Amino acid sequence: MKKLFDYFLRPDWGFEDWRNIRDYLVDRELFTIPRYFEICNLYEQEKLKNITPYPGVTEIVLELRRKGIPLGLVTDADMYHAKRRLEKAGLSGAFDHIDDIRSITREEALEILAEADRDGLVHSTNNARDEVTYICNCCICSCGVLRGIVEYGSKTSIACSDFYATVDELSCSGCEACIDRCQFNAISMNDSVSVVNTLNCYGCGLCITTCPEEAITLKLKSPEELVPPPATEKEWRKIKEMERQKVNLSPHNY
Ligand code: SF4
Ligand code: SF4
Repeated sequence: MKKLFDYFLRPDWGFEDWRNIRDYLVDRELFTIPRYFEICNLYEQEKLKNITPYPGVTEIVLELRRKGIPLGLVTDADMYHAKRRLEKAGLSGAFDHIDDIRSITREEALEILAEADRDGLVHSTNNARDEVTYICNCCICSCGVLRGIVEYGSKTSIACSDFYATVDELSCSGCEACIDRCQFNAISMNDSVSVVNTLNCYGCGLCITTCPEEAITLKLKSPEELVPPPATEKEWRKIKEMERQKVNLSPHNY
């Protein structure tokens, strides 16, 4: 069992990824499709058995429900597993709406991106050139990854933009709308004109769509500033692992 568990600890795939089981079986020349699915099934059953909500979570959700507050849940699990996990957590029927994975059209995707921009959410994607698997829209308050960039400078967590914002000082009226909008603390005022700190700017473009004077544009970084993304997620995980090791070795952690 420990040997199988070690496969889940490798940086190759995610911790819950079934491909860890596949690799374990392939390496021992034990792989057959029925056996693989049987083990994956057992794995899912064990996971379900061990689901325990954080203390107080079930009570809080049920209390909100009693107060008539509409509740929605977004999950990356498929509907079957999502419902079973909610059932196990005592939250079956607690949510008015559950959204799981479904296909959308290009137009729907563009409308979602526009809506996210209107709501001031940062678009992001995974940091792997040949394996782009998601576009996420979130904010520093809710997203640990974005907060990690702002608070700890862990800029490789998501794909890095090739652009940063630049302000045309003759057009800027000094309204400060862009300061409120920027989640990366990249804008400040100098003599009633906004100034972008390019070291902090993530190139998300949120300041541009809120500027009433259309004074902000995105500028392509110079070749020296560009950071090419790792080719694959596996390569990215190795970079992250090396970064973590550097942090662990830091005297600040002792
Ligand atoms: S939103 Fe536009 S006009 Fe207002 S301060 Fe920022 S750059 Fe200037
Ligand atoms: S493009 Fe840069 S300055 Fe503008 S909101 Fe995004 S991070 Fe802030």
